[in-house]
Amino acid sequence: MSEKKFIIATLGCPKNEVDSDIICGKLINDSFTPTNSPTEADFLIVNTCAFIADAVEENLRFIRKLAKIKKKSNAKLIVTGCLVERFKNNLFNVIPEIDALIPTNNINEFGEILRNLDSAKTNIQFDSQTYIYKQRNEGSFFRNRSYAYIKVAEGCNRPCSFCIIPKIRGKFRSRLIDDIVDEAKFLIDQGFKEIILVAQDLSNYGQDIYKRTALDTLLVELDKLPGQFWIRLLYLYPLGINDRLLETMSSLEKVAKYIDIPFQHSSRKMLQIMKRPTGKFEPRRLVEKIRSVRDDFHIRTTFIVGHPGETDEDFNDLCRFVKEYKLTNVGVFCYSDEPESESFRMSDKVSKSVAKKRYHELMSIQKMVSAEILSQMKGKEITVLAETKRNGGAGVGRAYFQAPEIDGLTFIEAKNISLNKFIKCKITQTGDYDIWVKPSRLCESG
Ligand code: SF4
Repeated sequence: MSEKKFIIATLGCPKNEVDSDIICGKLINDSFTPTNSPTEADFLIVNTCAFIADAVEENLRFIRKLAKIKKKSNAKLIVTGCLVERFKNNLFNVIPEIDALIPTNNINEFGEILRNLDSAKTNIQFDSQTYIYKQRNEGSFFRNRSYAYIKVAEGCNRPCSFCIIPKIRGKFRSRLIDDIVDEAKFLIDQGFKEIILVAQDLSNYGQDIYKRTALDTLLVELDKLPGQFWIRLLYLYPLGINDRLLETMSSLEKVAKYIDIPFQHSSRKMLQIMKRPTGKFEPRRLVEKIRSVRDDFHIRTTFIVGHPGETDEDFNDLCRFVKEYKLTNVGVFCYSDEPESESFRMSDKVSKSVAKKRYHELMSIQKMVSAEILSQMKGKEITVLAETKRNGGAGVGRAYFQAPEIDGLTFIEAKNISLNKFIKCKITQTGDYDIWVKPSRLCESG
């Protein structure tokens, strides 16, 4: 290992975590040394997020904090990720302490750029996005936990009027099934118990390289891998929810019966304004279709309130949908007016205060729905992935209907439980989002 130390901070979504893992792996292979201490690092690297104004503000605040550390330690301040893709060289004007901006396209040259920083300020080209990683070549840096994300594709070709991600991450591009299966095996061999497939538009996986959507084929290959682990899917797009995929998810043992599909809204008028699928791909129709295949599929979704054109009537439709269709996990966001988005140029803007009021109203409806769904599961036996211990030794984990970092938790009322193991448990108590369980037995290899 060489002399130069680096630390990388990851902001934003799970897809950024994967990129940070790839960058770390490449730097180590390139004889740089990772450190957890910002004051020890020669390179302070931050992998950023920029899809909405709040994220931009949060990221700029974070970079300014690193700039203060840089002053004391003489380290170099390196910025990569979505903030760089969105604002490019302008960032040097906003935070002059930045030494280099490294676009995602240049992840393979990360080490070389760090070695030739003097020319970095001038030589970086912001070409159209083509980069997608082939393989992780180092152990994951998030391995002190039970789950790992795998990015199966990058970019997006969808026209959603409120979203600027296609402008930031480029055209949709899939990875090869063999590369993804190798990576999953690599991560499972390291002890991960859950593999989470992510992309901006997961259900479009394979369309560009196999000339048909191939998520079902990928799942079949992943399910063949030895060992006991869960496969979870995040960020499905309505158009890709077809019988083939649902039947495959239903029939494969390792696939969590969990469907994450951001609906964004329920009113047909709003879906049309947002340029989201309608007709048989409208939320009500899709939920009925999903439940017709298997009634224990748990559905997660997200909604945007306050989008231009949204009236009280549209919002009431959304409230009715959430009350009647009872989805297990729901996230709500207030519309963010991004200048690069199509929605920015729309009229009938909704005030921030009205959007906030709708946000709270919809969240309180979902809180009651979630509590009701969980209370009906009381007494049931489920499989829980035990992950950490609370003070006093009782365990904390997740059930298959709880994705990490975004859904509720499972509190295991037992001491001395084995961590990073699957345990059969009985649900003894339920709350608004969390459940309490008593272990009945360890699942086979656990
Ligand atoms: S599918 Fe998702 S990432 Fe793609 S444009 Fe729509 S909201 Fe954005």
